[in-house]
Amino acid sequence: MDIKNHIEELRRELHRHNDLYYIESNPTISDIDFDKMMKELQDLENQYPEYYDSNSPTQRVGSDITSSFSQQNHKYPMLSLSNTYTINEVREFLNRASSILKEPFKICAELKYDGTSVSLTYIDGKLDSAVTRGDGEKGDVVTANVKTIRTVPLILKGDYPQEFEIRGEILLPWKEFDRLNKEREAQEEPLFANPRNAASGTLKLQNSKIVASRKLEAILYYMLGSELPSDSHYENIKKAQEWGLNVSKHLKLCDNIEDIETFINYWDKERKNLPVATDGIVLKVDSISQQQKLGFTAKSPRWAIAYKFQAERAESELQSVSFQVGRTGIITPVANLQPIQLSGTIVKRASLYNEDAIKAFDLHIGDICYVEKGGEIIPKIVGIDLDARNERLGAKVTFISHCPVCNTPLIRYEGEAGYYCPNQNGCAPQVKGRMEHFISRRAMNIDGVGPETIDSFFANGVLTNYSDLYSLTVERIVNCPRIKSSDIYDYEDYTSDNTKDQKIGGLFDNIVTQPAKAKSNRRFTELIANKIIKSIENSKNVPFERVVYALSIRFVGETVAKKLAKHFKDIDSLIAAKYEDLIDVEDVGDRIAKSIIDFFSDNRNLISIEILRNAGLKFKIDEIVDDAEKSDTLNGASIVISGTFTKHSRDEYKHLIELNGGKNISSVSSKTDYLLAGDNMGPSKLEKANKLGIKIISEDDFLKMINQ
Ligand SMILES: [Zn+2]
Repeated sequence: MDIKNHIEELRRELHRHNDLYYIESNPTISDIDFDKMMKELQDLENQYPEYYDSNSPTQRVGSDITSSFSQQNHKYPMLSLSNTYTINEVREFLNRASSILKEPFKICAELKYDGTSVSLTYIDGKLDSAVTRGDGEKGDVVTANVKTIRTVPLILKGDYPQEFEIRGEILLPWKEFDRLNKEREAQEEPLFANPRNAASGTLKLQNSKIVASRKLEAILYYMLGSELPSDSHYENIKKAQEWGLNVSKHLKLCDNIEDIETFINYWDKERKNLPVATDGIVLKVDSISQQQKLGFTAKSPRWAIAYKFQAERAESELQSVSFQVGRTGIITPVANLQPIQLSGTIVKRASLYNEDAIKAFDLHIGDICYVEKGGEIIPKIVGIDLDARNERLGAKVTFISHCPVCNTPLIRYEGEAGYYCPNQNGCAPQVKGRMEHFISRRAMNIDGVGPETIDSFFANGVLTNYSDLYSLTVERIVNCPRIKSSDIYDYEDYTSDNTKDQKIGGLFDNIVTQPAKAKSNRRFTELIANKIIKSIENSKNVPFERVVYALSIRFVGETVAKKLAKHFKDIDSLIAAKYEDLIDVEDVGDRIAKSIIDFFSDNRNLISIEILRNAGLKFKIDEIVDDAEKSDTLNGASIVISGTFTKHSRDEYKHLIELNGGKNISSVSSKTDYLLAGDNMGPSKLEKANKLGIKIISEDDFLKMINQ
């Protein structure tokens, strides 16, 4: 077949399957087959760039090329709707429309999605451009980013007009929002306050590859053009759906205010079950010709209005403000409130974000605060009832200047809204937080040591730093009193109330450990102690990049740690790296480079690293494993790993098996092809393998098999 035809055939097929999957929710091929087809097309397009097509399905993966956005005028202005909050205001809107139209009209009621608006233009059935609302007159051209959204068809099907515009909302589904925030939390990046901010922030990213990874969605709700299929907005949306566009599904044609009220009441409850955020209902006069008759005011159309749902809000008295100290030393102010019921949960605390927020509210102890729980993760204070202030008004809340735990003066990094306690090695919550990070699954993966165990070790001075872990002995563990976390002084007990601050703060002068409120007679058993020691021992095989991540260098998350490890190859080169060397590394900018230099200029960190190095942790990259090429040498063979090894860690062997097209499985069965046996392997596994006639190979045999 002719190459050009083949490429076009692949594109057609991929567009069709994308539609079946994302619009019709009825996939007919597997994800693997889809990916295979995509890969084939990508290869062909690379090989034959003369057949480039800006609407090829391959455009959906995005590109690393960053470019600033150009601006484009809207053909039809993109106005926002005026808001109403009561059914009475809706009634007034209907009366106004009625007095102008002087004839019967229908209202199309639909959900108001809480995302960021965009206008798409299709010409000859192909996505031509995507423009943000901007100032209503002109917006940013974000076509490349919108192309990565799977629910936006690049090619239409059916009897579409030659040219038309369709507007809608770009959204980040709740599930994706949660995933993104979890990831950001792990990387110590600021969290998105709600899915709307996340969606608009993502759409404005200059790297469309990152946009593609975030799984945005588009829901379309209004069509414009000179040759629309119908005079009914409702019918136009149904038509758009036939062309493969992802339209708002919950539309209802209403004849009167009662119909509208029923729709509002239904969705006020039911919207909580939707996968995306909504914040109200939109009511549109359905007939396009009637819409034109009604026209526009300066700011918004006269033929449509938004009804906003009441955010769930409650009032509560501010009792105190706590300042929490995080693992990186970041200080977070939290309002402690008189407990109240809100959206079915008891709320006692609400976020105050940062100093600016406290100043903006002119917050005083005893204030009556309005608390809302919208799309946010924890409830937030949205306002203060100034009329309720009386003679009971307490002290003005001010942001602290010194760390509530260790009394070190706080600092503010350039470009950051938050304050930090810089005393990384002497401030208890930071030291403890870093220890918890060090043992976490994605870092050193030391299991058997939970937060409560850390609390016990820390409170009793058994551990004062993560490097102490490697000198732990069974004896020291069993002699350490076991404390419940609730019996330890909580840092959240600190408030801005100065007297209390000094009283408790005094306990911490020059003390790194966190004292317990009560003595404990509970002890760790020998069994548990042995388990902990074994788990610590196993962590010595963790690859270098994860060790770098485990060290808790401020702003160095998993991805950056990986890049640093690959670039510098060992810890000594990383320690010796100058600012210029550091910013040469991909993803490392000024802020990260400075933080790395800071970290290694603290002698205590260098001592910790020496201790860890002597304990046998990996402080250099394993070239064979990290530079290994992908192959199919193992051809799907199932391999069980057992015992301990000298040349590589178990994790590395696992990685090598997968890299070379094998499967790592955990238990021996008749389906096992090989048993990769190290020292001290379990006798039962060996016996079973012998019985089943499974080939037992050494690490040398294995490395030979994969040509190393
Ligand atoms: Zn501190």
